[in-house]
Amino acid sequence: MLRTVVLAVLVAILGCRSQPGSSSWTAAWQQNAEALAGARAAAELESTHGGIFCCPERQARLERIGSEVAVHSELHEPGMWHFRLLGSDTPNAFALPTRRIYLTRGLYERIGDDDALIAAAVAHEIAHLQRRDCFKPDCASADERLGREHAADLIAVELLRRASYPPESLSRLLRLIDDVQPHGWAEARVRYIDQAS
Ligand SMILES: [Zn+2]
Repeated sequence: MLRTVVLAVLVAILGCRSQPGSSSWTAAWQQNAEALAGARAAAELESTHGGIFCCPERQARLERIGSEVAVHSELHEPGMWHFRLLGSDTPNAFALPTRRIYLTRGLYERIGDDDALIAAAVAHEIAHLQRRDCFKPDCASADERLGREHAADLIAVELLRRASYPPESLSRLLRLIDDVQPHGWAEARVRYIDQAS
């Protein structure tokens, strides 16, 4: 739940980006390859989660709240973030390294009119990007997966604080989506946040 998507093609190509001694031609090629891989990854993610859900009002709200959080991220560059709604009914959120953040319609509708919970979902996904979790090998165990969530949650809480949203919004969100997480994770994550605060 609320996990960053790992797409092999993206990781394979982006993994080469910091090779030492790259010529400018190679760097330009890599930039194009990254853009292409990013577009493919987005298309794959969108097609497997119900496609892009178009609703101008909802889209504008997501972009407003997402931008309020993203501007406080170490990854922030003006105009580089994309926030989108997916058509899937299952509450979930995703992030791609191309600074694309997705919330499903199921998550959006469960959240309702509480902007702070939208901010919490976005902050958690941005935290995964900051930690470069999508470039790491798959977790070997559930404990390792939970550990990654804990680490992302702490960054997300700090992003919420900087964006002037209540930091406890993340804990409220985690409880709200308890049913779509592995058993016991929501409480474990809330406890971890509380202990670190
Ligand atoms: Zn996560």
